[in-house]
Amino acid sequence: MRISAHGSDVLVVGGGIIGLVTAWRSAQHGLRTALADPEPGGGAARVAAGMLAAVTELHYGEQMLLGLNLASAARYPAFVAELEEASGQKTGFRACGTLAVALDSDDRAHLRELHALQQRSGLESEWLNGRECRRLEPMLAPGVRGGLRVGGDHQVDPRRLASALVTACERAGVVLHRDRVQQLSVTGGRATGAVLADGTELAADQVVLAGGSLSGRLAGLPEAVVPPVRPVKGQVLRLTVPPAYAPFLSRTVRAVVRGSQVYLVPRANGELVVGATTEEMGWDTTVTAGGVYELLRDAHELVPGITELPLTETRAGLRPASPDNAPLLGPTALPGLHLATGHHRNGVLLTPVTGDVMAHVLTTGELPEVGRPFAPNRFSPSSGTASPEVPAPQEQPV
Ligand SMILES: Cc1cc2nc3c(=O)[nH]c(=O)nc-3n(C[C@H](O)[C@H](O)[C@H](O)COP(=O)(O)OP(=O)(O)OC[C@H]3O[C@@H](n4cnc5c(N)ncnc54)[C@H](O)[C@@H]3O)c2cc1C
Repeated sequence: MRISAHGSDVLVVGGGIIGLVTAWRSAQHGLRTALADPEPGGGAARVAAGMLAAVTELHYGEQMLLGLNLASAARYPAFVAELEEASGQKTGFRACGTLAVALDSDDRAHLRELHALQQRSGLESEWLNGRECRRLEPMLAPGVRGGLRVGGDHQVDPRRLASALVTACERAGVVLHRDRVQQLSVTGGRATGAVLADGTELAADQVVLAGGSLSGRLAGLPEAVVPPVRPVKGQVLRLTVPPAYAPFLSRTVRAVVRGSQVYLVPRANGELVVGATTEEMGWDTTVTAGGVYELLRDAHELVPGITELPLTETRAGLRPASPDNAPLLGPTALPGLHLATGHHRNGVLLTPVTGDVMAHVLTTGELPEVGRPFAPNRFSPSSGTASPEVPAPQEQPV
């Protein structure tokens, strides 16, 4: 076994956007920080659409999460400005807003309910009739019955965000180990580092587990602190809007078609992301004909002109989901071990606030107020919330 020459104050396991933002903020706070991942900047952000949808993604029973989502959305403009400055890279952030539309009377009733819930929650959204929707987005289907204009739900390009975070980490002095963590090291009832697949042992005063949907699979985790996180598969398509067709859409457009969410996210560079399926399929990331068919069918009902566009990419990724769809942030029952995982369908949105919460925890030992409802101990047996079974992966976890 090789021992790394120097230990660090913080070791982050996992270099998706959540691990990267944790490491970047930790290093900015003066902590000697290391991060291990075979492919930093990979993970679900390679697939995600990048909607920053605090208001349009509001669901009944998720008011606690709403507070965190809004706190992160409010941070976004300053966060991307700081990240772009630190990395010298653009993130594709667009303050373009969102239009959620209804295609039939059932959809309209559903959207009316969402509007009422948004209003009760003090959120800004405006009801438009079908003609007003089409005036904003002329490519919408003629049958659109009405919609909600949400001016504050913007977007970012998750791939560029992840790439900028890798560079910002490197420039802030984070030591990147491009290898898989084989096992957490626990000594004297405390997390003390980790062992990489190549045998290198990394010592650290504090370890942050940010392994996305694989967080529950890390060897060496005592049973009591295994995070109840499971993978939720999502398939996504990427199309290209040729310059002659631009502007095809000016803002994110979404709808519920036959009970399934479909959204179209137009980037400034001509990319149009169409997503996403939601499937409980364990670690399967196969792109299926059925998934692609359903997305194209639903998107075509919403915006018929999409069938003219080149289809450039199909992909599937895994959302790391917790039992209440909210993240797990901060200390666990194992001293020295923290979690930053379970961000499910809002991980891109929650990146800025997660960085701030984790830096606060790592420097003070306490969760800041905004992060307190998301402490991992809400799922401990004494809290009365049962943890779900974590299914076995179909292939060697990375
Ligand atoms: C189809 C789809 C659409 C989405 N759309 C949106 C959206 O529009 N808006 C939004 O806000 N969010 C969206 N999300 C969610 C968002 O992408 C995720 O919540 C977020 O990317 C999770 O980031 P993460 O860093 O926690 O996990 P991941 O991205 O899964 O990264 C985990 C990392 O940990 C590494 N790792 C795991 N185990 C180990 C180990 N033992 N050793 C070393 N490294 C390890 C992996 O290699 C990986 O790089 C979407 C997700 C999907 C799949």
